[in-house]
Amino acid sequence: MHPAEQLAVIIGRIYRSGMTTTSGGNLSIKDDNGDIWITPSAVDKGNLHPDDIMCVKPDGTVVGKHKPSSEFPFHKAIYDMRPDMTAVIHAHPPGLVAFSIVHEVPNTNIIPQAKRICGKVGFAPYDVPGSLALGEKIADEFRKHPDYKAVIMENHGVVLCGKDLLDAYERFETLEFCARTIINAKTLGEPCYLTDAEIDQFELSRTREYPHFMDVAYPSDERAIRREIVDIVRRSCDQGLMISSYGTVSVRWRGNDFLITPPGIARWDIAPEQIVQVKDGMVEAGKTPSRSVAMHQKIYQMHPHIHSIIITQSPHLMAFATSGEKFDVRTIPESWIFLQDIPTLEYGIQYTANNPIPEMLGRLPAILMANDSVIVTGDQLLKTFDKLEVAEFSAKSLIMAAPIGSLRPIDDAKIEDLRVAFNVK
Ligand SMILES: [Zn+2]
Repeated sequence: MHPAEQLAVIIGRIYRSGMTTTSGGNLSIKDDNGDIWITPSAVDKGNLHPDDIMCVKPDGTVVGKHKPSSEFPFHKAIYDMRPDMTAVIHAHPPGLVAFSIVHEVPNTNIIPQAKRICGKVGFAPYDVPGSLALGEKIADEFRKHPDYKAVIMENHGVVLCGKDLLDAYERFETLEFCARTIINAKTLGEPCYLTDAEIDQFELSRTREYPHFMDVAYPSDERAIRREIVDIVRRSCDQGLMISSYGTVSVRWRGNDFLITPPGIARWDIAPEQIVQVKDGMVEAGKTPSRSVAMHQKIYQMHPHIHSIIITQSPHLMAFATSGEKFDVRTIPESWIFLQDIPTLEYGIQYTANNPIPEMLGRLPAILMANDSVIVTGDQLLKTFDKLEVAEFSAKSLIMAAPIGSLRPIDDAKIEDLRVAFNVK
């Protein structure tokens, strides 16, 4: 894609996911010629088209129909300091601004993949927006720490760079997710952070070598499942239930064969042909399945009633998974009927030889894994997705309730009435 098209797509995603206002935020790409493509100043961020994007040549010539962003000076300062970086994102997303205004940086050891994606996060002192001095202060932070790719700006926002725009976007979204998760967890109690050794355990848990099969067939029912998976992954991203850097969806196909998402691709950008077929315990040639593929296989083998699985991180469920506070779904009838009681298992249990999760999912529709994710199962994929939404909404209500009072759960007698009325086993 042309840099102007990439910028228009990504600023649209940032706006729609509530990470910038109409006027705030700016992003840029430096191309092979040294031209810097940047979002325009004072044009609606909710409705930018590729022909709105401005181009600033290395000699300072400006091409395009608007004015380049007023923050162009710090974009240029970052590219001058980091020749290996070709994209910069700056915005004022509420979670990271919360850190910015109390002069703190989020600890990315809150979820396993954030340390690798975000790295250590810097803090640049305040200066006037759009000034050369602000550019110098930000560039100075990147100069002092040559491995940093994200900097919180004092009483302002955040700036991140990347080897390309998708890399910068994934970093931005993951860091804002860390910020919101920490804030939500603090509303409930104290967040627990992973040690570097625990994160290494995650990073090393690569998919074990799976035998591949060559003779792959794609009948129409198989292709329909690919489309269904991609639609639910996009919907999860659009609804704030999944971020680019984490999330797995699988659907049973025939017998114990199933289709599953691949790792390493921005989740909202996955195409149907990238979904991986798993047949007779073997993987479609030339593809890599999610690293949790063995657990999915086991779940389908053990539980004929389960036809779909979603594993994800969402900001309110993860507040429970990172604070250790009990996630009590006896809030409203809908929540209990859909979810019953959801336990939180200790971090890393899914990597152990006696992983209890497949067995437990025979009795429970959903499980939280500490600092890691939520796993939700069900028959049709849309119903599983609905359960995930109910769980995230329940977690959000509990967090919103925390400042106004403590939960008055539905009592055991009323739960028994629900069990009978809604035929819950
Ligand atoms: Zn700004």
